[in-house]
Amino acid sequence: MTLRDLKLYCRALGHNEFHGDQIFKWIYYRLADDFNEMTDVPNNLREKLENIFLLNYLKPHKTLTSHDKSTIKYSFLLERDTGIEAVVLFDKNNRTSFCISSQAGCPIGCIYCATGKMGFIRNLTDGEIINEVFSLIKLHKKPDSVLFMGMGEPLLNYNNVTRAIELLQSAHIGAKKITVSTCGIVKKIYDLGLSGLRPRLAVSIGSAIEEKRKKIIPLSKDNDLQSLKKAIRFYREKTRRRVSIEYTLVRGINDTVSDARALATFARHTGTHVNIIRFNPVAGTDLSVPDKGTASKVKRILKERGIEVSERYRRGTDINAACGQLASH
Ligand code: SF4
Repeated sequence: MTLRDLKLYCRALGHNEFHGDQIFKWIYYRLADDFNEMTDVPNNLREKLENIFLLNYLKPHKTLTSHDKSTIKYSFLLERDTGIEAVVLFDKNNRTSFCISSQAGCPIGCIYCATGKMGFIRNLTDGEIINEVFSLIKLHKKPDSVLFMGMGEPLLNYNNVTRAIELLQSAHIGAKKITVSTCGIVKKIYDLGLSGLRPRLAVSIGSAIEEKRKKIIPLSKDNDLQSLKKAIRFYREKTRRRVSIEYTLVRGINDTVSDARALATFARHTGTHVNIIRFNPVAGTDLSVPDKGTASKVKRILKERGIEVSERYRRGTDINAACGQLASH
């Protein structure tokens, strides 16, 4: 519930709206485990709340830490036996990022993604999404960034994801700290641009050549590159946020000189920064990882064309926690 919802709820229970503020702080700032901790809230209201709600943080049933300790992957079990995974990443300056899931499974089925291979199970609720974040805060600390880059296509669970973002923002995790990653759901990019939430946007394009992209990311016709280009421009103008292109480089699929040139043109037309990610191995595919030299070649072609480009350091591959590797087992 948002602060406003909580205030109205207190009133509906016959109490002063002001208690909504107190409860909000207990839940969203202090991460209370129990209504009895809320000592400034009247006893009879605490009892009512206890009978209606459950303050229930997720407990991981499996935890894996990467060899270099930079990545921890948690497996959580939600209601209806739904398994999801979330990842905590630490950089060398001890900045912490939470990579969270918005769906169990995913209906898109990008060729390089383990989540896509699971098929779609269900959307997570807004409560489940913020519970991932709060449970990870309890296990670590408040994150420097929250990335909707875990399992699922966040823009296909638009209402719950945007409500979760709103709640995170009221818990002082600001828009600049939140990144929504999409494979390019055009209509929802416009909606997000108009929502006033202004998270950062990362767009995974697979290929900047339409025919290839269709084979890598099977999306409908109305999400074609031309429409995506316009939507990204709209998002940038409307929100004044930097948009990045995430480009998963797969050997022999999208790693040629002409692929890199097409990518540079797309990035120039959209004013975006490009992140190159060398494909992370996924069971059940015969795709292979390009060597470092190929990634350097693609980066050089982009740089020569004036495009800002960086390569994402591959982390957590040894525990299947890197981009594209999340799947519940
Ligand atoms: S990359 Fe994202 S959109 Fe594509 S199948 Fe995986 S989770 Fe879904």
